[in-house]
Amino acid sequence: MRSRYLLATFFGGVCLFFSLISSSFGKEVNVYSFRQEFLMAPLIEAFKEETGIEVNIVFAKKGLINRLEAEGSNSPADLLLTSDFSKLQQAKSKGLTQPVSSGELNTNIPANLRDSEGHWYGLTKRVRAIYVSKDRVKEDEITSYEELAYEIWYERICTRSGKHPYNLALLASMIAHYGEADAEAWLAGLKNNLVRKPAGNDRAQVKGIYSGECDVSLGNSYYLGKMLAKEDQQAWADSVRIIFPNQEDRGAHINISGVTMTAAAKNKAEALAFMEFLSSDTAQKIYAEVNYEYPVKEGVAPSELVASWGEFKGDQLPLSEVANLIKAASDMVDRVGYDF
Ligand code: FE
Repeated sequence: MRSRYLLATFFGGVCLFFSLISSSFGKEVNVYSFRQEFLMAPLIEAFKEETGIEVNIVFAKKGLINRLEAEGSNSPADLLLTSDFSKLQQAKSKGLTQPVSSGELNTNIPANLRDSEGHWYGLTKRVRAIYVSKDRVKEDEITSYEELAYEIWYERICTRSGKHPYNLALLASMIAHYGEADAEAWLAGLKNNLVRKPAGNDRAQVKGIYSGECDVSLGNSYYLGKMLAKEDQQAWADSVRIIFPNQEDRGAHINISGVTMTAAAKNKAEALAFMEFLSSDTAQKIYAEVNYEYPVKEGVAPSELVASWGEFKGDQLPLSEVANLIKAASDMVDRVGYDF
């Protein structure tokens, strides 16, 4: 009798032991990431520390959506991380995502920064800012996107390709606010003011201001922080002022980096846990400090440097609405011949 009791206790103990191990071992989530390793590494480490869940991650600059498409339901990826919302919307429209419902995500992330059907969620914000030469552009000489099309800026503006997602999103927001005809007139006016063929990234345009080639450019806000942190780019950053446009009316155009759960996700619980973690105070703080982005979560402060650029009002237009106009924006860029 006594030995049978001991045996039962022993097996009970073994079962408990194994269930404890399996609660922290073997749990994993697989991520495809357009976001870079230097940024994701500290987030993954903090998540593992908090939950014991392993994050396997594949980084790429291009091709992850095609890869998801090719892999179909056999894809190992549970989550896709992107650095803008048009890629999230693209994945959604190809049927590669699934809706997620989470009180925590809905509390942490404002409604205008996530998909209305729960397919994707914004994790960080950035302003599509106007950069101007400190020397050649007076304070308040330009305060809105609309003014980029004014004659005073003739052959004084540099931008990257009109087809880049950051510029397409801005143009899509112009279409949402003004309608196609007026947005196209604006884009044609801006194109007319370009001093050179669109090329290079956002930082290359600020370099153009530094070298005297242009006086005004468009660029995401966090690049100012990134340039200041790189010795060979500090002089570029020092030559410009960052302007948050349209503060007197609708607010500056906001883009997001974000996340979506794949339709093929096998580790759904772990994937959701990682999504929720990325919207938490801990992760939002890491994003803010490591990459000079604005937290989406209310109450989490930006980095000291970013805060020193001042507060801004962001456009409240839901990004799901803007996302639906990306295709129209892309066609418009072609019609206007923006990149030529
Ligand atoms: Fe970027």
